[in-house]
Amino acid sequence: MRDRQGPEGFGADHLPYGVFSPPGGGPRVGVRYADRVVDLAAATGLPALATGSLDALLALGPSGWAQVREQAALAVADAGVPAYDVATVALHAPFTVGDYVDFYASEHHARNAAAVLRPDAPALPPAWRHLPIGYHGRAQTVVPSGTPVVRPVGQGRPPADGDGTPAFGPTRRLDLEAELGFVVGAGSALGERVAVDAFADHVFGVVGLNDWSARDLQGWEMAPLGPFLGKSFATSVSLWVTPLAALTGAWTDLPGQDPTPLPYLRSADGSTPRGLDVAVEVVLDGEVLSRPPYASTYWAPAQMLAHLTVNGASVRPGDLFASGTISGPGEDQLGSLLEMSTHGRGFLEDGQEVVLRYSAPGPAGGRITLGEVRGRVQPARHVGDT
Ligand code: CA
Repeated sequence: MRDRQGPEGFGADHLPYGVFSPPGGGPRVGVRYADRVVDLAAATGLPALATGSLDALLALGPSGWAQVREQAALAVADAGVPAYDVATVALHAPFTVGDYVDFYASEHHARNAAAVLRPDAPALPPAWRHLPIGYHGRAQTVVPSGTPVVRPVGQGRPPADGDGTPAFGPTRRLDLEAELGFVVGAGSALGERVAVDAFADHVFGVVGLNDWSARDLQGWEMAPLGPFLGKSFATSVSLWVTPLAALTGAWTDLPGQDPTPLPYLRSADGSTPRGLDVAVEVVLDGEVLSRPPYASTYWAPAQMLAHLTVNGASVRPGDLFASGTISGPGEDQLGSLLEMSTHGRGFLEDGQEVVLRYSAPGPAGGRITLGEVRGRVQPARHVGDT
């Protein structure tokens, strides 16, 4: 038997999934336990876990997920199962991202961002309190934690003293957005909705997520259709996927919704669904800048999925939808540099490294540590080209 209590939030009550290659071996699915990666493919003999991604596991659906989690719990307690020091293995992108949607579910963030970007407009658009606003992002540029982020080049607003020609060059306002991502496992049929109460039938788990943003590109291009190149150059996700089964102790009531949302955004009993008490830390070059609380967001994840599918749009294994920037009410709870800029904080410089850290109440007391999201800014390329 191995020690049942792993340090640093990676104990037997957590067991997040990832894809790793041991020294000299090919990629396979493993679970993180303490500072080790346990070879789940070897432990179970399941072909679905020897594929080099979580894709086949995601597609198994809730009963399959429960069986694999039971096997994972046995595997980490079995000293005969191959396990490797996490520092000695190569970790890979955990799953193939299908469609990617980013929401805008934090009211504190929506109000803060509006105050900076649109000071003369209403803080919240008319629809904001009636539906979780979102946009379809670019799945192909969702990258695993540790991938360098090259400063994007693009158009910005024409300089005030110029002839109206747009600015062009490397972004001067590169930002981070601290978010939580939700990984769809079991898909839905075209034309069908995913009800609020069916959330756990479809969502496999969560990842940490940084929605890198170029504010000057974004500000010039996004009216009236929404985010485009100011967002699509990179979105970083954690290497570990925490299954919902490890978050049973983290569900919490959200601050409250007024007006009461339409019935399709509520549970069958009329109540509004709960959110997750996930604590986030934004770290820049080793300095903790803020601690946004996900429990402070307005819209619940089950409402985001219900809204995403209410028009009959289907989801499939590997689809990813994210919370939007998480900001709390406090000045030390802001999830983007844009919001901190009113307190004198600048944007990202070349060479700086952003780390987003996440933790949540564990299912058996204590806390679990979700996968971190790390990314270092690299200088722009093609700087002289126009
Ligand atoms: Ca975002």
